Amino acid sequence: MQEGSINLYSDTQTRPTAAMRRFMAEAEVGDEQHGLDPSVNQLCEQVAELLGKEAAVFLPSGTMCNEIAILVHCKAGDEIYADHTAHIINFEGGGPSALAGAHIQPLAGRNGIYTAAMLARAIRQESRYSPRPRLVEVEQTSNLGGGAIWPLETIEAVANVAKAHSLRLHLDGARLLNAVVESGVAAYTFAQYFDSVWIDLSKGLGCPMGAVLAGSQNFIEEVWYWKQRIGGALRQAGIVAAAGLYALEHHVERLAEDHINARRFGEIITQCEGVRLQPETIETNIVFIDVAETGVSANAISQQLEVRGINIGAFTDTMLRAVTHLDVSAKQVEKAGTAFGEVITALRNA
Ligand SMILES: *Cc1c(COP(=O)(O)O)cnc(C)c1O
Repeated sequence: MQEGSINLYSDTQTRPTAAMRRFMAEAEVGDEQHGLDPSVNQLCEQVAELLGKEAAVFLPSGTMCNEIAILVHCKAGDEIYADHTAHIINFEGGGPSALAGAHIQPLAGRNGIYTAAMLARAIRQESRYSPRPRLVEVEQTSNLGGGAIWPLETIEAVANVAKAHSLRLHLDGARLLNAVVESGVAAYTFAQYFDSVWIDLSKGLGCPMGAVLAGSQNFIEEVWYWKQRIGGALRQAGIVAAAGLYALEHHVERLAEDHINARRFGEIITQCEGVRLQPETIETNIVFIDVAETGVSANAISQQLEVRGINIGAFTDTMLRAVTHLDVSAKQVEKAGTAFGEVITALRNA
């Protein structure tokens, strides 16, 4: 992206701020895999407390949190229940099957959110003919569900069904803190139903990398075997963990601004004829834009925006996705929203 451009492609593309970089530069560090990095230790303690869990571990990415959690929870042939839009199904290179040998049954939820009744229907009777039911996965907020927030009651109902079948529960909390800030429900309140939960540092929190996976002491001990085994055990990782400490202090409450910006963006672009939002209600920082009725392709819109220095990705032929984050100001959102309408008009008239 060139200077002065507007990057609505993803909240993964945030850059560490000058203040975050200064904080990182001064971090106390040590040998992480020997438990000797004070910054990593502090981050893990803070996140464990935030999520109401006994222990936590620092990992290079959210994907590794999901994959290691699945490796700990599941044996080969076990079945996982997740919404069909789930990151573990669509964006992790087939990791659950490639690494854990686990089978995922996709549930047909709405905006990434399935119901307790759907889960109850999906869970198989124990039989040597079937994969063995093992794990229930929830994504808060739902990425492909347009940043939709799982209501606490839905999570509770899903957890009750899971527990009645002795299944474990895993929460992909890549954007859990977006849900927390928007709903006012505490992170540990959402997390209480789950055996494992993680938050991403490299999305809306604005860190260059890293994620923290939390659970019981026993669970985290098992996680450490996999962290070591697949090369996720680190050395002076405090330099990046410090970014996480900085973000937890300075970049959580401000997520509310991203949500306001996303809603404003949605408001502006839907003034353009044929532009629809999917879902219609923007709850957090992700906006899926359905342009089918404009008669213009999502790719053409994305390319013309790029010419104007605005980055919004085409997801399908008729759908784009815009994501607000700390590197996008309210003013830039106004500009991008206006440009969106202008580009469609220009393409229609061409
Ligand atoms: C981004 C994302 C991940 C993966 O996180 P990385 O840190 O990019 O590996 C997992 N789940 C969801 C819902 C995500 O949006």
